[in-house]
Amino acid sequence: MKNRLTIAVQKKGRLFDQSIDLIKKSGINFSTKGDNLLAKSNNLPIDILFVRSDDIPSLVSNGDADLAIVGENVLLEKSLFKRTYIDKVLYLGFSRCRLSFACPENINIRSFKGKKIATSYPNTVKKYLKDKNINASVVNIHGSVELTPYIGMSDLICDLVSSGATLEANNLKEIETILESQAILIKNKNLSTAKTKIAEKVISRMQGVVNAIESKYVMLNADSSKVQEICKILPGSESPTVIPLENENKVAIHALCQEPIFWETMEKLKAKGASSILVMPVEKVLN
Ligand code: ATP
Repeated sequence: MKNRLTIAVQKKGRLFDQSIDLIKKSGINFSTKGDNLLAKSNNLPIDILFVRSDDIPSLVSNGDADLAIVGENVLLEKSLFKRTYIDKVLYLGFSRCRLSFACPENINIRSFKGKKIATSYPNTVKKYLKDKNINASVVNIHGSVELTPYIGMSDLICDLVSSGATLEANNLKEIETILESQAILIKNKNLSTAKTKIAEKVISRMQGVVNAIESKYVMLNADSSKVQEICKILPGSESPTVIPLENENKVAIHALCQEPIFWETMEKLKAKGASSILVMPVEKVLN
């Protein structure tokens, strides 16, 4: 495996599907069979390692994996209070969540001082408390964190929240957010020259896939006199293409917009006289 690049991803869980999707959309072909922990790409010198996400930061830092996809929350938790050899390369925009304090709905917590806080992210919570000069005890638990206030193990919890539905189902209310997280691509700092070349290709392709998620290709027709006004409304477009139409007073405008197009934007375009406004998805963008 000396000159093959290894990419570590979560074996199963919330990050799995979108990590695999991103790798495949980046043109890295491989097939997974059952419970295999390693998949070899058949078109690039790349191997995919399937591991627990908790293990990913140390695998990358030690050079056992070259690239990896992991939640930023996990990266932070495992990198605090020690030296690591990891570069953050690319925010991937999926698995967004936040790490928040929460307590039972019927309790009012004014200060965390002297309280017992249960969490699966003890380093992150300790650092937060230290920075704020708060003296509280942190109880480390790997799962079912929401249960701990009800069995007397904690006064409050600090856990990952996305929609808030799990907190609500467990009669807990969110009090304060410590950090916002999303999936991130990370890289070992000391890759060989050969591996750096392959890594650069993978990173640029993944960047292309991520860019495309928010990008849209917009086509519309407008009066020639309105071109400048209309181009100003198109969000994140560099230099739209303006094409003459058979009707001499009209042109077609085509633009790659690297920001979302909302209904409000389309309504503004229409108000400026644009017609036949088409907004189309973009699969890949290489800038
Ligand atoms: P492991 O792979 O080590 O078993 P895990 O049990 O923490 O990890 P998941 O519950 O699948 O695995 O969470 C993986 C990641 O998904 C989290 O670290 C976080 O970045 C992200 N995530 C997004 N939303 C949530 C959420 N509501 N709760 C938990 N994790 C979330």
